[in-house]
Amino acid sequence: MDFHLTEEEKMLQATARGFAKKELEPVAAEVDEAEQFAMDNFKKMAELGFTGMAIPPEYGGTGGSMIALVVVMEELAKACASTCDIIDAHISLCARPIYLYGTEEQKRKFLPPLTRGEKIGSFAITEAEAGSDISAIKTTAVRDGDSYIINGSKLFITNGPVSDIVVVFASIPALAPRGMTAFIVETDTPGFSRAPQYKKLGMRGATNTELVFDNVRVPESNRLGAEGKGMRICLATLDEGRLGIAAQAVGIGQAILEHAIDYAKERKQFGAPISQSQAIQWMLVDMAVKVQSARLLTYQAASLYDESARISKEAAMAKLCASEACMDMAVKGIQIFGGYGYMMDSPMQRYFRDAKLTQIYEGTSEVQRMVIARALLA
Ligand SMILES: Cc1cc2nc3c(=O)[nH]c(=O)nc-3n(C[C@H](O)[C@H](O)[C@H](O)COP(=O)(O)OP(=O)(O)OC[C@H]3O[C@@H](n4cnc5c(N)ncnc54)[C@H](O)[C@@H]3O)c2cc1C
Repeated sequence: MDFHLTEEEKMLQATARGFAKKELEPVAAEVDEAEQFAMDNFKKMAELGFTGMAIPPEYGGTGGSMIALVVVMEELAKACASTCDIIDAHISLCARPIYLYGTEEQKRKFLPPLTRGEKIGSFAITEAEAGSDISAIKTTAVRDGDSYIINGSKLFITNGPVSDIVVVFASIPALAPRGMTAFIVETDTPGFSRAPQYKKLGMRGATNTELVFDNVRVPESNRLGAEGKGMRICLATLDEGRLGIAAQAVGIGQAILEHAIDYAKERKQFGAPISQSQAIQWMLVDMAVKVQSARLLTYQAASLYDESARISKEAAMAKLCASEACMDMAVKGIQIFGGYGYMMDSPMQRYFRDAKLTQIYEGTSEVQRMVIARALLA
């Protein structure tokens, strides 16, 4: 398989790298400490068209392939994983399903403000009793004339504290057990509210909260896809989202590797740089092999997606490999930094905290193994 980027993709990668180095990296620690949605970063990305990636220009987007999206996500995550997290929820989990499953009217109404970054998107499936098992959702959508009345609550929602448009999954009781249906909910709809923002271990510049739906009336024209097709839409959306998380993990991993190499060359003990010790060299080698393997699996899955292939297994493999590699690298990165790696002013502790989330959201590592096992044994 050929992973050479086109000239256009290389230019986009260079633009993203330059932007991330100049605008995101210098504020990444600040953004993490502030524990507020990284609005300045989001606005700057909107100016460059990054909020409209993978959405065609007729809907206000900047277009581009899945490979282009993952290449940019990797660069963003390398500089500031929280900012990449915001973009993953905004594009892969909100704008993309509206583009793929929405009516022409829905696309014309909801996509331009999302792609231009005037509105912020989020995606809501998780509930108190429905985490890994999304089929257990209890949020209901009951038809009432030409509307649906939605009741329930959704946990942990990325961008939830600030989002204007949410792709929400609810079950139509009359169609149970196959009633899961997707809806586009505008957050200024009466009956919609948000709990206070969660305090988190990492990815703290991307904010999360519980979304509450108390008799929220949603017009039929906001139903995304047919009644009862929500599970299919949710799983396909998560396949795409997992590519984004894989790219995010690769970006964090690359940042860890580069910092670890620089530090190992500088730090002297026993009269020589620690990089001359074979123990340190082997850790660096293992890290380099892991991040490159993860990158290749991620590019391969994105490239298959661009060829219109189904990628559930490949996206799960990429996410599993990249997130496990990233966490392992974060542990090794702290080890190479020694005591300084454990201090809050070292970048390693942030990578360590951010890396952990990649093994949990959009399907835990155990869930990715379940998806892969199902495909292997089918
Ligand atoms: C920061 C953050 C952001 C998030 N953003 C969003 C969002 O934007 N939108 C959204 O809808 N959700 C979001 N989530 C939810 C996230 O996707 C879930 O937390 C995740 O899918 C796991 O669900 P759970 O937390 O309920 O864990 P559980 O499903 O309760 O799992 C607990 C543990 O049991 C394991 N486990 C469960 N079932 C099995 C099994 N059959 N076999 C083996 N092991 C199993 C899991 O792997 C895990 O280790 C977010 C979560 C976090 C932490």
